Amino acid sequence: MYEYSGSIHIHSTYSDGTGKIEDIARAASETGLDFIMMTDHNTLKPKEDGYEKIINGVMVIIGYEVNDMNNKNHYLVFGLNELIGTYQVLDNGELGCKLHAKDYVRQISEKGGVGFIAHPDEERRITRGHIAYPWLQWDSNDFHGIEIWNHMSEWIEGMNESNQMQRFLHPLKSIISPNIKTLTRWDVIAQQRHVTGIGGVDAHAFKQTLMGFFDVEIFPYKVLFKSIRTHILSDTEIRIRKQDNFEKNKSSILGALKAGRCFTANYYHGDARGFRFFADYGSEVYNMGDTIECKPGEIPILRIFVPQSCDIRIIYNGTKITSQLGMHLTLDAKKSGVYRVECWKNNKGWIFSNHIRVNINGK
Ligand SMILES: [Zn+2]
Ligand SMILES: [Zn+2]
Repeated sequence: MYEYSGSIHIHSTYSDGTGKIEDIARAASETGLDFIMMTDHNTLKPKEDGYEKIINGVMVIIGYEVNDMNNKNHYLVFGLNELIGTYQVLDNGELGCKLHAKDYVRQISEKGGVGFIAHPDEERRITRGHIAYPWLQWDSNDFHGIEIWNHMSEWIEGMNESNQMQRFLHPLKSIISPNIKTLTRWDVIAQQRHVTGIGGVDAHAFKQTLMGFFDVEIFPYKVLFKSIRTHILSDTEIRIRKQDNFEKNKSSILGALKAGRCFTANYYHGDARGFRFFADYGSEVYNMGDTIECKPGEIPILRIFVPQSCDIRIIYNGTKITSQLGMHLTLDAKKSGVYRVECWKNNKGWIFSNHIRVNINGK
């Protein structure tokens, strides 16, 4: 398998981020990323301006983040050349899509786009001046995936008066794990149909004056690129830095994300390159995102390999069924359902795989 490491959900000066795409790509290159996925709010202008290409050796994929007229139901969209629906300026000066969220999600899928629900369970309990943008349209069935981990949401949600300074100065230290509510929701939906989990940084590099006198750039892009990453796996080599293969390479990356052949990892706790979760069944190997149709009496074997020692946990239909400290773990998948893996280091979330589905006797 070939593996590529990317950062998803990034804002630039095309919306409310503070960095130019060239500079963001340079920061990505300096932190060893293979690809970045831009998601400025309600615009594909960077694509029209020719920024979807290899910049500083990094593949820059341009998507956008759409929201509805109430500025809720944020959705990350990739693989389209035009925005879906028409837009209107909201009271706060930002744009809103006039379509109902359920309709933009469906239309994006029908037009061949790939979409992920952004920061689904966002709450803002403590922090004044920051509004929450949760996903509310759960009766939609057409989204391809969910952002199971969003750096920005977790960072803001855990902030209080006493840890504020610490969080500003060490934006990576305070990131512990995806929201348990989101993981639970993901596992429930995954039992009904395939839904991919991805990680996002939601990078803006906001500048803010702290304690009235010094200016701090909150989360410089380069710092954030050392946090939550999404790694994709491919059977064939994607020559990711070749400009002339760009469209084909982009479809391979979007295809892997849509299929769930990917995992999310917090780089702060170690480079997750080399993590593998697959199943042996008969003479075939099945990967994350795959479904295994088993014959009576035959059971797949789940195999996990991790590049560094950690607490490996197997989650079956939303419940932890086994765990082990070390660098590998195997398990007979005796029951029908969805299996995924979590790796923890010192009680901090490190790697979160996608599901492998097992159907025994057609169930
Ligand atoms: Zn958003
Ligand atoms: Zn965003």
